Amino acid sequence: MFFASTELSQKSQTLLADWQRYQSAPSFENFVELAVSINSFTEFLIDKGFTALHHASHELEQVALSLFSVEVQHPIPQAASDDLNERILALIQMIENYMAASANLAERRTEPQPDVVLDTHQTRCLWLIGHKPEVWQDLLTQLGYFGKKIKFLTWDDALPTDINSDPLLLLDISSLPEGEWQNRIKALRQQFSVGQLICLAIRSDFEQLQQALRSGCDWCMPEGTPTHTIVAQILEMDDRQEQEAFRVLIVEDSMTASVFIQRTLEESQISTHAIQDPSQVLNALKQFNPDLILMDMYMPNCTGVEAARVIRQHNEFLSIPIVYLSGETNIALQVDAMRLGGDHFLTKPFNPIFLNAIIKSKIERYRALRRSMYHDSLTGLLNHTSGKNTLDTLLYSVAHDKGDLAVVMLDIDNFKQVNDNYGHPVGDQVIRSLSWLLKQRLRKHDVLCRYGGEEFLIGLPHTSAHQAFNIIDRIRQDFAQIRHPYNGSYFCTTASGGISTYPTIQSGDELITAADDALYKAKRGGRNRIELAVKPASSQDSLFKA
Ligand code: GH3
Ligand code: MG
Ligand code: MG
Ligand code: MG
Repeated sequence: MFFASTELSQKSQTLLADWQRYQSAPSFENFVELAVSINSFTEFLIDKGFTALHHASHELEQVALSLFSVEVQHPIPQAASDDLNERILALIQMIENYMAASANLAERRTEPQPDVVLDTHQTRCLWLIGHKPEVWQDLLTQLGYFGKKIKFLTWDDALPTDINSDPLLLLDISSLPEGEWQNRIKALRQQFSVGQLICLAIRSDFEQLQQALRSGCDWCMPEGTPTHTIVAQILEMDDRQEQEAFRVLIVEDSMTASVFIQRTLEESQISTHAIQDPSQVLNALKQFNPDLILMDMYMPNCTGVEAARVIRQHNEFLSIPIVYLSGETNIALQVDAMRLGGDHFLTKPFNPIFLNAIIKSKIERYRALRRSMYHDSLTGLLNHTSGKNTLDTLLYSVAHDKGDLAVVMLDIDNFKQVNDNYGHPVGDQVIRSLSWLLKQRLRKHDVLCRYGGEEFLIGLPHTSAHQAFNIIDRIRQDFAQIRHPYNGSYFCTTASGGISTYPTIQSGDELITAADDALYKAKRGGRNRIELAVKPASSQDSLFKA
């Protein structure tokens, strides 16, 4: 989160400057600039997970948008101006407080960085604030198996001063009097503008939930929520992935229009590439690999609709969203344009905030569609084909760096019995819990794939056989401790694994076969164990010793 601080500071200064510009020259154009700036700032805060800052910025955005109308005269009325001023200054103050707190923490971070195999997830602080730790023992134990260390505090304890600025706080409010818990949550929200707050043991009626959310909670877990549901929610909340910036290709013959669009989009962290000549569009698509195309309707020698039709002749560009931009208000022509491969039609002069909103929602849907092509829906891990491809790419880059790579096949033991005894949905949950455990323990750049039903393929770059064994064996031990709920009770299950390594074995397919052979050996050896593939002295021997 610290990397975002500089950007945060720059963006808040831009916001302040836009407000001051409007104050000294209160024109509609300057108000549009201000509204765009507030909108872009709000989106930035969502993207980076600055939850509480986002609450404040979002309210400011709503106020600004309510004034964003041609009927409102400029300068805006004094009362509205005072209100905006107060909100903007309050937001800037919150940002300064946050920056001061994180600078403080950065100075204190002197301890050595964790071992290579530990993921950065594990450095995040998790705290449970309640009245009795015994009540939550089961939750603490279960989270422990997923590598989550939670520290317990009572509501009377003071929070330690070195608490991470991005903590996940679990709040058991059941012992606090009505009226007081809301204030406690508000105070924590003020203190941890970036962290996440989960309210536990709350009554599940509408008013209570509304109050908790309004006080600044991110999520509520009503009383009686099963432990495994809370565990699942915490693991999901802690699994926020950094999004790659959205990419938009602009096809527009007017230089002025395209510079204006680029500027508007780049303020919202959308990266852009513009071409003036529509005949270059296929090249630009291949090189820039955009998530969306903004297409002008009228260009010399080629209309936007013609260009869209050409694009749609190519399979790989069948689903990329195309949004037309045009001065055209002829409805019949717009309908035609949409029919011929367009997704949306915006008429110039467009509202920049609306343009951003349309673009973001189209891109999110497009990315979700692509994710579903490459990822497994049960676990969110890479699917069989993309897992194998990613492993090959990884092998290529490891070989280039003269490094090593460990390949692991991991398979749940006697899984057929799990399905037979507890049912298929419970079996699915067991598969999901192993995938969570792997996501928690492995690094971002490790390959993690659901290879088959209850079988996982893992690639650990720059990891020796010995290191891989230690990591995977530890995961095996912890997986065996996880209690899977069933009918008010629980059961445990185990997994076995096989490991092969590059450069001992050279090709991707052979690495997978060797890891699979080692897995088979682990199964024959009694299961709940990890085996290493051993390269024979002579290549005439069978590939691996039993
Ligand atoms: P072993 O210890 O030798 O691995 O025994 P096993 O029972 O786990 O082995 P086997 O590969 O024969 O059985 C795997 C079972 O997993 C069979 C299949 O019905 C089940 N399965 C495959 N995909 C899914 C899934 O997505 N969900 C659930 N619940 N079960 C699945
Ligand atoms: Mg044009
Ligand atoms: Mg199995
Ligand atoms: Mg299997």
